[in-house]
Amino acid sequence: MLDRINGQLNCHITFTTDKTRELILKNLHKSPMYSGVIEGVGPRYCPSIEDKFVKFAEKDRHQIFLEPEGIETDEYYVNGFSTSLPFEVQIEMVRSIIGCENAEIMRPAYAVEYDFAFPTQLHLSLETKSCRNLFLAGQINGTSGYEEAGAQGLMAGINAARRVQGREPIVLRRDQAYIGVLIDDLVTKGTSEPYRMFTSRAEYRLLLRQDNADLRLSQIGHEIGLLSDRCYKQFSAKETAINNEINRLHSTHSKTDSLAKILSRPETLYKDLPNRNDQLTPEVIQQVEIAVKYAGYIDRQELEVGKFKNLESKEIPAAFDFSTVPSLRIEARQKLAKIRPATIGQAARISGVSPADISIILVSLKRWGANAGLESSDSNSGGSCEVDLEN
Ligand SMILES: Cc1cc2nc3c(=O)[nH]c(=O)nc-3n(C[C@H](O)[C@H](O)[C@H](O)COP(=O)(O)OP(=O)(O)OC[C@H]3O[C@@H](n4cnc5c(N)ncnc54)[C@H](O)[C@@H]3O)c2cc1C
Repeated sequence: MLDRINGQLNCHITFTTDKTRELILKNLHKSPMYSGVIEGVGPRYCPSIEDKFVKFAEKDRHQIFLEPEGIETDEYYVNGFSTSLPFEVQIEMVRSIIGCENAEIMRPAYAVEYDFAFPTQLHLSLETKSCRNLFLAGQINGTSGYEEAGAQGLMAGINAARRVQGREPIVLRRDQAYIGVLIDDLVTKGTSEPYRMFTSRAEYRLLLRQDNADLRLSQIGHEIGLLSDRCYKQFSAKETAINNEINRLHSTHSKTDSLAKILSRPETLYKDLPNRNDQLTPEVIQQVEIAVKYAGYIDRQELEVGKFKNLESKEIPAAFDFSTVPSLRIEARQKLAKIRPATIGQAARISGVSPADISIILVSLKRWGANAGLESSDSNSGGSCEVDLEN
């Protein structure tokens, strides 16, 4: 089993058997997840082996990875076999896996039940609504995952630091970053099971690309002091080169067609263009090709973003009282009062708030603004406690 390739140990693939399935189904009542001892909803994307046999009952067997725990040990991690069944069942289960007939268990598997704070109790800055200066990030907000935790930790850290500096929070929009989608989903919709970030949760996927992360976020990074002047200068030079080249391709013609039109043909690459600029870096060429080839789709998505930004820019003052809005449906009234959206855009994304409710709120906001004079929308007013961030 211990063949070394480049100094590494092999992982192995094996499978459960009919006996594994039989053992699990026979002992299901002993699993705290199934007997009701644990009431929480498990992580959908890392199901236990008993979950897999119940939820995917049509599958006869499940794949298991055997991963060496280290070079100096003959222990293996049985990946894909997490379980909360009792030890005496686990040992039989492990020995029912092909190749593990003589295995010993060094440490039994167990289930963990987490508690979490409802993320709808947070502002988009990740500060708690009820306790000023307290910011929450990570699994405590109902997420699961390394990146999910890291992304929130970054934003909560930035915003806690900015609070100490007396600056406005940084909130990334849904069209700017997956971090924006993640935090907006959590704060606006809450979650009833461990939340994982998927690209499919973003409506502006065409704009949120890995290749353009610097174009989307460098300016913000530089403004808040996270991106050095040197890096920002490099980025700016790249951005200018991209824009200049796109403009040049539109204004330069070969016979009757512009170079941009020629490049937009699926079979044409930048390197095939007549009159191309050989000084450009591969990164600049990549962005130019994407921008020109997908212009139609990108423009359409940017139009949608324009509408979205319009709604996002309509702030709902913290003092605005939803209970005074006439003819708002009860469900909408309750959810709006609970989540207290900061903008009309955020209000529109709350499940149970309809477009008709939004129209009513818009009218009421106008009247409220005229009567009360538009008060500061400081989203932090009304806190019932305060954490001292400076000490
Ligand atoms: C077995 C397992 C496998 C996983 N596999 C993956 C995976 O493959 N990919 C993936 O993306 N995610 C995976 N996850 C999920 C991921 O590990 C977590 O969602 C993520 O690490 C949570 O990060 P966090 O910073 O929010 O919380 P944690 O990493 O739990 O950090 C919280 C910290 O707070 C400390 N703490 C708690 N109470 C106090 C206190 N009172 N005072 C001081 N400190 C305190 C804890 O000791 C801990 O260090 C896995 C989780 C488990 C359990």
